[in-house]
Amino acid sequence: VFANVVRAPEDPILGVTVAYNKDTSPIKLNLGVGAYRTEEGKPLILNVVRRAEQMLVNDQSRVKEYLPIIGLADFNKLSAKLIFGADSPAIQENRVTTVQGLSGTGSLRVGAEFLAKHYHQRTIYIPQPTWGNHPKIFTIAGLSVKTYRYYDPSTRGLHFQGLLEDLGSAPTGAIVLLHACAHNPTGVDPTLEQWEQIRKLMRSKGLLPFFDSAYQGFASGSLDADAQAVRIFVADGGECLAAQSYAKNMGLYGERVGALSIVCRTADVASKVESQLKLVIRPMYSNPPIHGASIVATILKDRDMFHEWTIELKAMADRIITMRQKLFDALSSRGTPGDWSHIIKQIGMFTFTGLNTEQVAFMTKEYHIYMTSDGRISMAGLSSKTVPHLADAIHAAVTR
Ligand code: PMP
Repeated sequence: VFANVVRAPEDPILGVTVAYNKDTSPIKLNLGVGAYRTEEGKPLILNVVRRAEQMLVNDQSRVKEYLPIIGLADFNKLSAKLIFGADSPAIQENRVTTVQGLSGTGSLRVGAEFLAKHYHQRTIYIPQPTWGNHPKIFTIAGLSVKTYRYYDPSTRGLHFQGLLEDLGSAPTGAIVLLHACAHNPTGVDPTLEQWEQIRKLMRSKGLLPFFDSAYQGFASGSLDADAQAVRIFVADGGECLAAQSYAKNMGLYGERVGALSIVCRTADVASKVESQLKLVIRPMYSNPPIHGASIVATILKDRDMFHEWTIELKAMADRIITMRQKLFDALSSRGTPGDWSHIIKQIGMFTFTGLNTEQVAFMTKEYHIYMTSDGRISMAGLSSKTVPHLADAIHAAVTR
């Protein structure tokens, strides 16, 4: 009965790893997926995460009962505090409802399902370009996806004018997806002044902000600095949504830990919204997994462990920044034609190199370097040892 099923293409990002795994070359390098690697090229489990897991194992009172539909209460409260700030009036006034989600993706999806059902304007504007899963998540939830200009290839920076024009002509009430920090794939973020202008424009048109926060702490190394954009919007008292992921900043990728918060105008509205979020979640997966959220809650609620986390997080962010400098220096020393300063200007996990599809294909074929075809490379997958190989490949690709 399934004989007519057509084979689907590989996911454009995860497919890079599939191709990488098939390559038998000893010099192969995977810069596709945004997962942190150490200088030795190994995945990293944070010490503080190991410590939290040990505490959980030793705690005899712990059981493996189902969590409530909206997840672990402590985790939800602490997650809201982490993104909105400990002194956020929205939290103090109980205007925020937070539900545990299946990492960033699942949290975005729950938010999208809720909006499709309960929000009057079903159009969402996403940046051009954006993370490849965004249009799929929102479309499948029943929203209509449009794009706003974001990146200007000629400057390899923000297309601020285009962004203002496109949001300025969006229909009243439209939803706008915003990357909270470390925009994926471009590594280009608005400045705080630009965020303020975006906020004013969006509020004047009644556009609804939906923040995707997948890299809090990864952009600057500071959790507070990376939440500034979100906090500017919450400070004006208006509504917003925020999806958080602990995949990158706690290295909990496969544990699938995240949260969706919806900031409302009043506590009464927030509690009604929460009741409807339960109806969205129950038929999708009933309730979220307990282990990852328990790790996060253990770390966030303990002052010492929280501090230890911030130090380990900063070390990851700093290593990435060092890789940016090393790659930039390596290209400069090779005299590679072109301006490569965007490598050190862009922030977060990725560099949007500006390499085109053919150049990427050349680098994969000749140098066994794997990345998405849009020329995005994960700086977190690079090490001091592999920088020269990548620089050689880029040099060869652009001077071919
Ligand atoms: N949003 C963005 C912009 C991302 O880059 C990612 C991870 N690649 C996610 C959301 C979600 O990731 P996860 O579901 O693993 O938390």
